[in-house]
Amino acid sequence: MQLNEFVQLKMSVSPENQSFRAVDIARLALDSANVGVWILDARSREFLPSDRTKALFGFLPEEKMSLEDALVKVADRHRKTVISAVEQAIKTHSNIYIECPVILPPEKKQRWLSITGGFSATDVSNDYFSGIVLDITEQKQNDLRRSKFIGMVSHELKTPLTALKAYIQMLNNWAKKQKDNFTIGALSKVEKQVKKMLQMINSLLNLSGAEAGKINLTKREFDMGDLITEVIEETMFITSSHNITVLPGASVSVNADRDKIEQVIVNLLSNAAKYSGKDDPIEVSCTKHEHTLTVSIHDHGMGISANDIEKLFLPHYRAESKEMEKITGFGIGLYLCSEIIKRHGGKIWVESEPGLGSTFKFTLPIN
Ligand code: ADP
Repeated sequence: MQLNEFVQLKMSVSPENQSFRAVDIARLALDSANVGVWILDARSREFLPSDRTKALFGFLPEEKMSLEDALVKVADRHRKTVISAVEQAIKTHSNIYIECPVILPPEKKQRWLSITGGFSATDVSNDYFSGIVLDITEQKQNDLRRSKFIGMVSHELKTPLTALKAYIQMLNNWAKKQKDNFTIGALSKVEKQVKKMLQMINSLLNLSGAEAGKINLTKREFDMGDLITEVIEETMFITSSHNITVLPGASVSVNADRDKIEQVIVNLLSNAAKYSGKDDPIEVSCTKHEHTLTVSIHDHGMGISANDIEKLFLPHYRAESKEMEKITGFGIGLYLCSEIIKRHGGKIWVESEPGLGSTFKFTLPIN
């Protein structure tokens, strides 16, 4: 079936005159909502954009716009991610959900677009994707303002907390000299709470950095196995009711930003504990295959539905369910993890089944 025939088939239902009314109404609604529509033949890569889609990518209605033409307009730092999201959706027939900036000539203005779509229909020889494009520049600018504000506030909060931590350590040393067990116990509880607050503030600070497109990496060589052991010890105050097992694997040396990768593992491990029952086991592994290292964190908790999996790594996304109502969170941890891993040239994803648990995995390139 040709692409044009497919479009006609999708739009026409008998009786004919009624079908045209339905099409007209749909077109009118889409135009007035400034929504662009598109259809892609996944095999031939033939791309059929509406006039509004063309306009959003900076093309005139009479100009031709292929998929490649559209991708060229995507800002350099986002292009690779967009291409791999499209390829992945085509390969697995999954939905497309992309937010990316396009650069528009002549003054190189940046416009943020939201591109969503899904596998639409197939006959024996064709696979079609169809979807919509929206201008989300204003929303993105508001997000940026909000995240700058969060960044400023978090920074201000961090300074007194860091001082507090230092005083706790001094008091702790003093209490140890006095052999004052009550004070030692109380201070260790205060320290745990301060650590928790610092962790939250660091996440907020990183969020504002990530949203502004600023994740700076300071890479050095370190052993991933050592880092995993360290993180498990450091996060005992969150995960102590779970039995964490590190599966035997290779000792892998990697050149990456140790602090940022530590943050990723802390986030994934805390989530594994947070979203599974008390006493449920958690398994962590680190394996090496050719030029790639894979870290995997497996829990036996509530799991995630296929619908949520697609959006889990977007900022502020939280799955909705009865169980989730009792668990608090900002919905930024996974977004930060994915930004950090992407900046390293790696991949992050989750395999999960509701009720059976989840396995979060990330890869890093090794040389
Ligand atoms: P937060 O945990 O603060 O809500 P995250 O960004 O870390 O934010 O996670 C986003 C969402 O992903 C969570 O709200 C939850 O719905 C889901 N999630 C993350 N990790 C798990 C897990 N191990 N098991 C089940 N759901 C998870």
